[in-house]
Amino acid sequence: MNCTEFLANLADYFDAKTAATLRSELAQHMDGCNHCHVTVNTTRQIIEIYRNNELYELPDSIRTQLHQAVLTKCAELKDNKKKTKA
Ligand SMILES: [Zn+2]
Repeated sequence: MNCTEFLANLADYFDAKTAATLRSELAQHMDGCNHCHVTVNTTRQIIEIYRNNELYELPDSIRTQLHQAVLTKCAELKDNKKKTKA
């Protein structure tokens, strides 16, 4: 599995219904790839913040920063993908 495949399946990593085989493939890639490891950690933190959102209201500024961080990361990955293909 490469980074592109990993990111395509990233949502499945957080889905409890995901097959154990796919989950272990994702975990395996993450172990050897620092970039994807960081992406998963960041995504998990965002998910946890959203989950806790019922308990305390997340300030709009932080929400915007998180969205921005994810969008930047996605744009970087798209750029990298173009570069490797070119
Ligand atoms: Zn990777």
